[in-house]
Amino acid sequence: MNKNTEQIIFLEPVMKEVLWGGTRLRDDFNYEIPSDHTGECWAVSAHDNGDCVVASGAYKGQTLSSLWKNHRELFGNQEGESFPLLIKIIDAKQDLSIQVHPDDSYAKENENGSLGKTECWYILDCDADASIVVGHNANDNEEVKEMILNGRWDEFIRTIPIKKGDFFQINPGTVHAIKGGTVILETQQNSDITYRVYDYNRLTDGKPRELHIEKSIAVIEAPFDVDSASVKCELVKGDAMDQEKLVSCSYYTVNKQDVHGSVTLKQDNKFRIYSVIDGEGTVDGVAIKKGTHFILPFGYGEYCLEGNMSLISSEQ
Ligand code: ZN
Repeated sequence: MNKNTEQIIFLEPVMKEVLWGGTRLRDDFNYEIPSDHTGECWAVSAHDNGDCVVASGAYKGQTLSSLWKNHRELFGNQEGESFPLLIKIIDAKQDLSIQVHPDDSYAKENENGSLGKTECWYILDCDADASIVVGHNANDNEEVKEMILNGRWDEFIRTIPIKKGDFFQINPGTVHAIKGGTVILETQQNSDITYRVYDYNRLTDGKPRELHIEKSIAVIEAPFDVDSASVKCELVKGDAMDQEKLVSCSYYTVNKQDVHGSVTLKQDNKFRIYSVIDGEGTVDGVAIKKGTHFILPFGYGEYCLEGNMSLISSEQ
């Protein structure tokens, strides 16, 4: 084993119980979950609401936020108050509420200096008839307001069918919702600012959940730009690895790598995050399998992925 592997930052995920969650984080990923309503695995996170702990190696026992604070050299001395990305696996047994996120400038002004939220979804699995909400059908901001205030939800909400392997970019201002029967890997800016537009008139303990109508109307982009969400992915085939470039925007570059054999790559970025989404293998001889998440730090250089597995990587 290469001594370098001590530098790999393997993380312990944080599980979140939510009303709409299920058991697939246990059934599909073998994670220990707190209840049969577990909806989110915060797999790579330095957020206050779920700060991942390093599982092994040189930094075992430390949180990702403390590495960011005290060992910034691991991330190429990148600037910023907090680790910039957050990776989640989401098990939506039931529909999530319809929501929208602000951009950085709106969040800074209206949410105590918080970051806005750009996110993207890779569909890991879904029911045969599954669908997702991305965008709306209003022609302009005036119509957005009118449709929301008059509850014209069926006309307003744009629902589209999905299948395993689909990928969506959700820019700030995009109305969106994950619907029941869907498991996704989400790569997002490290922010938890969400405006809830509509919750299907559901009740929680006899009461509706809080909505954020005014802020939603203020940030929803109109008309919806279909091309902004449906990214054209580029597939590059290789002997031991096929790579699909999923998206590159100002916050992240996300790729999918299907490894079938042994491939040597180079980490020459500030850092590179990996999530194994299927199969098993090794990184520089260290065993990894579906559900493993790790970060290759700054200066890691060459590394070898070997096995039969699919991974999603992200970096800035
Ligand atoms: Zn969202």
